[in-house]
Amino acid sequence: MGEILVLVDHADGVVRKTAMELLTIARRLGEPAAVFVGTGYERAKDTLAAYGAQKVYLLEQPELTEYLVAPQADALAQLAERAQPAAILLTSNSDGKEIAGRLAIKLGSGLVTDAVDVVAGDDGAPVATQSVFAGNYSVQAKVTHGTPIITVKPNAATPEPAAAQPVEEKVGVTISEAAKGARVVERAPRTQTGRPDLTEAAVVVSGGRGVGSAENFTVVEGLADALGGAVGASRAAVDSGWYPHAYQVGQTGKTVSPQLYVAAGISGAIQHRAGMQTSRTIVVVNKDPEAPIFEMADFGVVGDLHKVLPQATEEITRRKG
Ligand SMILES: Cc1cc2nc3c(=O)[nH]c(=O)nc-3n(C[C@H](O)[C@H](O)[C@H](O)COP(=O)(O)OP(=O)(O)OC[C@H]3O[C@@H](n4cnc5c(N)ncnc54)[C@H](O)[C@@H]3O)c2cc1C
Repeated sequence: MGEILVLVDHADGVVRKTAMELLTIARRLGEPAAVFVGTGYERAKDTLAAYGAQKVYLLEQPELTEYLVAPQADALAQLAERAQPAAILLTSNSDGKEIAGRLAIKLGSGLVTDAVDVVAGDDGAPVATQSVFAGNYSVQAKVTHGTPIITVKPNAATPEPAAAQPVEEKVGVTISEAAKGARVVERAPRTQTGRPDLTEAAVVVSGGRGVGSAENFTVVEGLADALGGAVGASRAAVDSGWYPHAYQVGQTGKTVSPQLYVAAGISGAIQHRAGMQTSRTIVVVNKDPEAPIFEMADFGVVGDLHKVLPQATEEITRRKG
């Protein structure tokens, strides 16, 4: 079985859940080999071993993180030329997809983005599932040329531990001048809300114009907190100034793919669907039974969200005891 390179998504060594998901998927395809770029490996080490990394490639040159993502594509391309992996997996976020695109060009390889599942096909090569047309169709895709490069959406797999003792290898790479086109001049930590990151959360509760005001968003936050989830918002709610732009879900906002998505007071415009259509289970609360969002609901409540959400929050909190 060949190596499956997994680019580890982390913040100064704090490994994101998406990396554990990718390592879990990599084990279905071959031998997981984590690619750790940047600083903080000591903090990441135990997690990567716990989730089955047989090998860790350490790429710690400062230049790799002093610029935007182009140097990481250079690095992965050089590593892939050397290691000849059976596939390369990255997280389907904006950085991951940009690196994957650049990498595919450099390697002359096929690329599949936004996979919601990846399994080994009959010949052992990865087969990726994509969810398209507002979640109405599933597409199975296989890379036919070069090293398969696949970006995988958060929550595509449940992280399963499988202890390993990874072999560590430091790798030095050459960064091209072209990759140094945009330097990072400042980094600032995001304000902590105590809630999970929107794009990675297993549960997202989103509010739309039906919420009615910024103050009323407390009912959305209340349900999100009861479920241990993140808060999202439609563009109408964001444009009204009720919730910060960073929480907008949709075509011009964040793409989310949680296990559970609750849409409260959201009509279901195509631009909103574009950001949440691959959610596993969709629950809708809307007072209009004709609202288009009901078409994609697994479970719908026709009612006033100001009554339904607090009742749901109360009941969930009671059951959690
Ligand atoms: C180029 C472009 C990009 C866009 N990008 C995005 C994007 O990224 N994300 C996005 O969301 N939109 C985006 N939009 C906007 C999108 O077209 C819609 O206008 C927007 O999603 C509507 O938001 P909404 O569903 O909250 O509001 P509305 O469409 O006004 O729907 C409000 C819903 O709330 C219900 N409601 C009202 N009161 C209550 C209540 N008390 N209880 C329960 N239900 C209630 C109503 O029945 C209605 O269905 C984009 C548009 C364009 C043109």
